[in-house]
Amino acid sequence: MTQKQRRCPLCGHSPLRPSFEDRTFEYGPEADERITVHAHQVPIEVCDRCGEHYSGPEAAKVEHEAICRTLGLPTPSEIVALRQRLGMSQAELARLTEIGKATISRWERGRMLPTRALARYLRLLERNPTNVKLLKTLASSPAGAVADSTHPPQNPAPGVGSPWQFEPVVGMKRNSEVTAGVK
Ligand SMILES: [Zn+2]
Repeated sequence: MTQKQRRCPLCGHSPLRPSFEDRTFEYGPEADERITVHAHQVPIEVCDRCGEHYSGPEAAKVEHEAICRTLGLPTPSEIVALRQRLGMSQAELARLTEIGKATISRWERGRMLPTRALARYLRLLERNPTNVKLLKTLASSPAGAVADSTHPPQNPAPGVGSPWQFEPVVGMKRNSEVTAGVK
């Protein structure tokens, strides 16, 4: 890393001294949705003459990661790590998931937070390789559809009288029964 000796814009002193500080700040689009974020070890530069503190892109990166962790969203480096574990480029991951390549790129550069829904989607890929395989199958069929030749939906309109529409109900349990069976 090449460190350019920087001059304090305020008093002209050089060099600035690299340091770290813990920061607490509010984050959120709406006043009633604000969260308090604690960012530890934020890299800054300090002017030893006038006492001014400066922060750049590295500080923004640490703060962004703190926001992700507070919200329970994957950090940029976690998204990069997931993609690399899958052995995919951004373009390949975009093809697999139908998430835009530009979106993936913005996540990885910390320019945008994933939505909760897409973060959960990423967790599915992260936790279970079978889901990746399934997604590959879906991605390779043109409409992303899995044909079920044994029970074609012959009655596309929502209505009564089609055995196909009722069949999935057989063997299903109510949520309360399922919950009761779980220790
Ligand atoms: Zn200064």
